[in-house]
Amino acid sequence: MTFDELARHPGPASAFFLERETRGDADARDALLAKMAERLAAMRDSVDRGLTNDAKSRTGMVGWNAKGLHQAADLLDAPLLKRVQAYAMAVNEENARMGRIVAAPTAGSAGTLPGALFGVADHLGRSDEELILPLITAAGFGEIISETMFIAGASGGCGAEIGPSASMAAAAITELLGGDAHAAVHAGSLALMNTIGLVCDPVGGYVEVPCVSRNAFYSVHAVAAAQLALAGLESFIPPDEVVGAMASVGRMLPPELRETGEGGVADTPTGRRIALEMAK
Ligand code: SF4
Repeated sequence: MTFDELARHPGPASAFFLERETRGDADARDALLAKMAERLAAMRDSVDRGLTNDAKSRTGMVGWNAKGLHQAADLLDAPLLKRVQAYAMAVNEENARMGRIVAAPTAGSAGTLPGALFGVADHLGRSDEELILPLITAAGFGEIISETMFIAGASGGCGAEIGPSASMAAAAITELLGGDAHAAVHAGSLALMNTIGLVCDPVGGYVEVPCVSRNAFYSVHAVAAAQLALAGLESFIPPDEVVGAMASVGRMLPPELRETGEGGVADTPTGRRIALEMAK
C-alpha cells in the first residue's frame, strides 16, 4: 500500500482503509468500528486523567504541566493552541506516571494524535463519535509509514516517532474537517517532511524530557499541516518519497542521537546529573 495509491481514492481516506480491511463484509466493518471506538475512548480517558492529575513522575521531571497549562490564563487568546498542547501533554504525563495510554504509534509520541484530534474536535464542538473514522485514517497512515521506515526513536531518532504521530494526526484532522484522501495524504506528508532529522535524546533514558513538551509542540504542528493541506497546499516531494527520505535520514543518525541518552539534551550537564541520580 502506498500514499500514491491512497491519494487517488475519490472519497475520504477512512473509506479506503475500511474497504481494504473489511472487503465489504458488514460484520467485519462493525467489529473494526467498535474496536476503534474503544481505542478512542481509552485515548479520551488518558487525556481526562492527565488534565486533572498533577502528581510528579518517579523522576520528578514532569507531571504537572498539562493541568497547569489547562488552567492557566490564555494570554495569547489562542484557545485552540492551549487546548491542543494541554491535551497532548496530559497523555504523555500519564505515560510518565505509568498510566494507561494508547500508543500512537509509540508511547513516547502518544500525545500528539489525541492532543491534536480531541483538541480540534472540542474546540469546534464535534462529538467523539465523529472521530472514529478519522482515527481509522490515522491508523492507516501509521501502517503505510511503517511499511517503509522503522517506528522507533532507537532506530531513526525522534523523527521516527513524532514524525509518524504528527503525520497521523494531520491526516485525521484533515478528514474530520472534510478533506478527502488526497488532502489527507498531503497533510500527512507535510507534517512528516517537517520532522525529518529530529533527534531522540531522552534525559536519563526516561520518556519525559524532552518527550512530553515535544508532543505539545508537534500536536500543533499537525494542526498546522492540516490547515495547509485544507487550503490546497501540497507536498512538493511526493509523499512516498518523503517517507523514504525520513527512513534514510534516520539510518544516517549516529547512535548517540537514537535513544541512547548520549547526545542532545541528555548529554548536557543537567541531563547527565539526572541520569546519575536516577541510577543510584
Ligand atoms: S525523544 Fe526519543 S523517547 Fe522521546 S518521544 Fe522522541 S523518540 Fe520517543
